[in-house]
Amino acid sequence: MNKYMEHPYPCIFCDHSTDWGSGRFVNRLPADTYYEFEDGTEEYRDGYSCAECMATECDRCPELIGMDEDVTPDMVYGEWFGGLFSDKAHRVHAGCLTEKEAETWDKAGA
Ligand SMILES: [Zn+2]
Ligand SMILES: [Zn+2]
Repeated sequence: MNKYMEHPYPCIFCDHSTDWGSGRFVNRLPADTYYEFEDGTEEYRDGYSCAECMATECDRCPELIGMDEDVTPDMVYGEWFGGLFSDKAHRVHAGCLTEKEAETWDKAGA
């Protein structure tokens, strides 16, 4: 029995329902994780994550980055790049790119 794979499809991170009509259904994503409880024990969870929980933090400002709004060095410099931006940032808003990075990204034809 996997309660995360059946009604009300709780988000594996925050336990909010991602079922149809919950408001989180449209943007939910299949996901799995080893959820860690406060006492240090872990539980494997396989199911869905809501969009809020899939949002990541920007490395250059305190705002969260929504799905598909994040920019990584690979997107700017090419898939083979595999590194970090010069200031060690890895995931940022498009608007948080430096002028030079934004220019390079433009040329990459994103
Ligand atoms: Zn969630
Ligand atoms: Zn940002």
